[in-house]
Amino acid sequence: MSSKAKDEPKLPADGIIRDVATGKSYRRGKFLGKGGFARVYELTCVASNQTFAGKIVPKTLLQKLHQREKMKQEIAIHKSLNHKHVLKFHCNFEDAENVYIVLEVCRKRTLMELHRRRKTVTEPEARYFMHQMCDALKYLHESRVVHRDLKLGNLLLNDDLELKIADFGLATLIEKNGDRKMTMCGTPNYIAPEVLTKVGHGFEVDIWALGCILYTLLVGKPPFETESLNETYARIKKNRYSIPETLEKGCPSAVDLIKRMLKDNPFERPTIAQILASNFLNEYFPKSLPTSCLTMAPRCD
Ligand code: ADP
Repeated sequence: MSSKAKDEPKLPADGIIRDVATGKSYRRGKFLGKGGFARVYELTCVASNQTFAGKIVPKTLLQKLHQREKMKQEIAIHKSLNHKHVLKFHCNFEDAENVYIVLEVCRKRTLMELHRRRKTVTEPEARYFMHQMCDALKYLHESRVVHRDLKLGNLLLNDDLELKIADFGLATLIEKNGDRKMTMCGTPNYIAPEVLTKVGHGFEVDIWALGCILYTLLVGKPPFETESLNETYARIKKNRYSIPETLEKGCPSAVDLIKRMLKDNPFERPTIAQILASNFLNEYFPKSLPTSCLTMAPRCD
């Protein structure tokens, strides 16, 4: 079977997806996006008319035991979470063909599309997003969850442009204080040096990713980006990145925070509480953003 056919979920021809255990059924609507394993569609509950996002994973992609274990872990972690800036998990079920995860729907795409259209965002906008990410991450880390794959494409936006952290596919639980994870099944986008060198990692990998995200939002491209993945990894290991002079001069408080979050030594990176207390995050930021921000910089007169 070609990989395309294997990846494509087989869905009921009448467009109705049934959760046999609860008797609930959902009407399949618009395609919302696709990830490594899943295709995501709008799902409307037939009884309540409430719309969700349905993450659909074909069982053909879950043939190996470790793939099923990973899916189970993603569901168990995501199900346990409840925070304004973490994508809400509604329920999960399966039929003969697929596993379904029913989630809060976010119709304004992700920070990836916003970045593609805008390239850079203004400092107040960056603070707006950083505050919401830090709020969610504080909650996750207090719940002993490390996300491990924070990236623009996993930061969803709802109709009010509120940010929601999504995709717990690489997340893990730190069971005992100080425990270090030695391995990871998958490749994060903003991979931290301690993951590349396999010396053990913990919560600090999320701070590294947050540093990469803030850099990307303000500079317009990721800090270690090159033409080849090997070269990018070599740069990450050498901690080789540069800060444009315009940012260095224009926003020293952001540069100071980025440099601290991108420390090679994970134990030298700030905690979420320290990030929230930083000068950068304590300057002005708006309480909400207009939808026009998705395509245009706000006027500042
Ligand atoms: P995978 O785990 O296979 O990588 P993701 O969870 O990253 O899948 O979802 C893939 C894409 O689907 C996302 O990048 C996003 O564009 C879209 N998507 C995921 N969840 C939602 C949601 N709740 N609301 C709207 N779009 C979503």
